[in-house]
Amino acid sequence: MASGSFRNGGPKLTSKLDRQPSSAAYSTPKPSSKSRPSAAPASRRGGSVAPAAAHSASKAGGDAGVPGRVRVAVRLRPRNAEEMIADADFADCVELQPELKRLKLRKNNWDSETYEFDEVLTEFASQKRVYEVVAKPVVESVLEGYNGTVMAYGQTGTGKTFTLGRLGEEDTAARGIMVRAMEDILGDTSLETDSVSVSYLQLYMESIQDLLVPANDNIAIVEDPKTGDVSLPGVTTVELRDQKSFMELLRLGEAHRFAANTKLNTESSRSHAILIVHVKRSVKGRHDADQSFHGENGTSSTMVTSFRPPIVRKSKLVVVDLAGSERIDKSGSEGHTLEEAKSINLSLSALGKCINALAENSPHVPVRDSKLTRLLRDSFGGSARTSLVVTIGPSPRHRGETSSTIMFGQRAMKVENMVKLKEEFDYKSLCRRLDIELDKLIAENERQRKDFEDEIERIRTEADSRIAEAERSYTNALENERLKCQQDYMDSIKKLEEKWMSDVEKARAEHQDACLEKECNKEAPTSSSDEIAEVRQLLESEKLMRQSSEDEVSNLKSEVSHWKNLEAAGNAEIMKLRKMLDSEANQKQKLEEEIAILKSQLLQLSLQADETRRSLDRGGSGKVLTGFDSLVSQARHSQLRDSANGPKASIAKLFEQVGLQKILSLLESEDPDVRVHAVKVVANLAAEEANQEKIVEAGGLTSLLMLLRSSEDETIRRVAAGAIANLAMNETNQELIMAQGGITLLSITAADAEDPQTLRMVAGAIANLCGNDKLQMRLSGEGGIKALLGMVRCGHPDVLAQVARGIANFAKCESRASTQGNKAGVSLLIEDGALPWIVKNANHEASPIRRHIELALCHLAQHEVNAKDMIREGALWELVRISRDCSREDIRMLAHRTLISSPTFQAELRRLRIEF
Ligand code: ADP
Ligand code: MG
Repeated sequence: MASGSFRNGGPKLTSKLDRQPSSAAYSTPKPSSKSRPSAAPASRRGGSVAPAAAHSASKAGGDAGVPGRVRVAVRLRPRNAEEMIADADFADCVELQPELKRLKLRKNNWDSETYEFDEVLTEFASQKRVYEVVAKPVVESVLEGYNGTVMAYGQTGTGKTFTLGRLGEEDTAARGIMVRAMEDILGDTSLETDSVSVSYLQLYMESIQDLLVPANDNIAIVEDPKTGDVSLPGVTTVELRDQKSFMELLRLGEAHRFAANTKLNTESSRSHAILIVHVKRSVKGRHDADQSFHGENGTSSTMVTSFRPPIVRKSKLVVVDLAGSERIDKSGSEGHTLEEAKSINLSLSALGKCINALAENSPHVPVRDSKLTRLLRDSFGGSARTSLVVTIGPSPRHRGETSSTIMFGQRAMKVENMVKLKEEFDYKSLCRRLDIELDKLIAENERQRKDFEDEIERIRTEADSRIAEAERSYTNALENERLKCQQDYMDSIKKLEEKWMSDVEKARAEHQDACLEKECNKEAPTSSSDEIAEVRQLLESEKLMRQSSEDEVSNLKSEVSHWKNLEAAGNAEIMKLRKMLDSEANQKQKLEEEIAILKSQLLQLSLQADETRRSLDRGGSGKVLTGFDSLVSQARHSQLRDSANGPKASIAKLFEQVGLQKILSLLESEDPDVRVHAVKVVANLAAEEANQEKIVEAGGLTSLLMLLRSSEDETIRRVAAGAIANLAMNETNQELIMAQGGITLLSITAADAEDPQTLRMVAGAIANLCGNDKLQMRLSGEGGIKALLGMVRCGHPDVLAQVARGIANFAKCESRASTQGNKAGVSLLIEDGALPWIVKNANHEASPIRRHIELALCHLAQHEVNAKDMIREGALWELVRISRDCSREDIRMLAHRTLISSPTFQAELRRLRIEF
């Protein structure tokens, strides 16, 4: 950039412009379509947001975790009526060059200073254009799940409220950023799956007041110590369904703001107005839980393992209309108390201090100094995408304020932010769905049981009535038979008696006759013996009859016993049915037990959900965090606080209940859902130091490595790699991993995998192994370093950060070994060809990557054997740069010392005539 093109050129200006990141570097975003979520909900409230031309050219950064910069636009207000008259003879104090994105601030008639901004908006810029260049990129990134902030800074009367807060009721073209942002948000979200809610507050004299319910005063700011998330539990949050209700809320807020300020006898320009829009969106296509709930036979066993919670993204948009930035002596002269003046000043000057600290990458940012900076803690320069519009007026009389406003904007342009995506599982809705399923199953079970009992009852009554009928009919038959036999018997007896009587009668008569005859003629006795023979015959037949009726009786008896047998068989049938009833009751009890287990798992999951929500944003270079890892690391922290409760306890409970062997055996289950679930549980356990040894002892490491190699499922591979990365944090495990050929398996995965998150885990695992002094030779020999270098093809900054960490770890161990005399010869890193990548990325824009590589270079340079290769590959230049420019003093000094103490580097620097 030639300094001659500026009127007041010279070295001062050149350095001013050169120190700023070139706008081109920020205006061409990296292609990010691959990892940008395409969560376009099926049903929308309105039309979709048309991509503004300005948006694609102004988006800062692209992916989760990618650093961006606070984007700053300057907007000039047209002269107002008073200025038209008062300043008629004077030129404006600024001159804008919007096409060059430059602004010249006149110092006097012959001298001016030139400043460059991301966007320069003239007095003719429309509200629509201002929205599109300042706020639309932020709104779109909020819709994608990132936090975003839009702020207006400037002297009172320069158009902050005009830019942000105009409702545009009479003229829609005049609508400000708040109204347009909400139109886009409501247009892109769905009423069924997403939720949008707002809070509106003002900050005055270090006190926060709810503008929707003004009685809520002095509201406290709550910061989550773990995640750094800021919230205001005391403030009213209204869920929005349409633009109309939002306009009403803004009107209400404005009215309350006016009333509050009248009461306090101040002006709104002394307070900061803050609109917070919370957006919660479900991520489409990633929740297919309810498909596999019913096994074909209605069994519940499949249910326990086959649910996956839907995912929601939470983000917030904060729009801040800051208090006027004019100097306090002026406000003092307007009749404000000293106390008030200090408080007004406090929040704004604290904001300025924080921006200075962030711009200079200072290790301490004084966010705690004021309410405003505490409130913006997670919304400015942190994990949010931020746009600042600085508003200025044209009047030369306010040159001083205009100049300080411009300088504020210039410093803010140097603030970097690392935007992060906040995703979490929507366990609540999963819980609701599971509850409904449970209710259905319980009702179905009860219905079946009732049907079954009714059926048993029916069979029993039928059997009873049949038995009674049979008994009745056979008793009747028996009785009849008995009566008949008795009758026959009596008849026979009677006949015999009659016969006998008549015979006796006859015999007597005959005897008398015979006696007479005997007496008369002594007759022969033949007829009497005939008679006896006849009686005998009768008796004989009588005997036979009796015999036959006895036979009949015994027949009947055997028939009775037959019926008795039938009755016993009927009873046995009843017994069998009873048994069936009992076993059915048992099954029901089992079902209920399973339901109880399911409920306890739900409880565990919702506990995990809470923790996950809080931990999703956390990350670090030393440890690779998966959702589960962070979950358990959360658990570990909460255990320190409260050893009895918390998610750790529930995981430990699961561990105890199910047993490690069982969990590990599930890794080989046929059912892919079970496998995913099991590997997540193992990953979960592996993050806990106390479990690591047990997992490895029980063969978990081998199973995880096999899973990594053989599984086709990306989730399984990613989670397994995460688990291995965690196991690889422990020194004993590192050796075991190497002994089991883990590095070869990790290298194969490194070569095959495409998902950046899987690669990040694999790179993290290898990076951990690189930090073990004993494994250096083997790691290099078995291709670990080459695998690490191979993964840079993916280009994802998280993966690059892990690769850089691994290389730095390796270089450090090697350096230590060389110093102790345990290693001679050129670095294995150089032998494995790492140097070109190291040199190419030594000045990487992402500071974590840059730091690791800078450290690695310093370690390599400490050993004279490496010097020649390093000079050949251009590493010397990087070392010189580090020794001069590195913002970390320790690294800068290390590079400096190393260069001074190496004769080879010294000779080369002399040869090139570079003073050092
Ligand atoms: P601030 O909020 O910074 O104190 P305001 O937004 O209240 O300033 O603006 C002060 C006055 O200037 C208002 O009357 C407003 O309508 C007018 N104004 C501000 N910016 C513009 C602009 N770009 N075009 C036209 N009028 C403007
Ligand atoms: Mg205002």
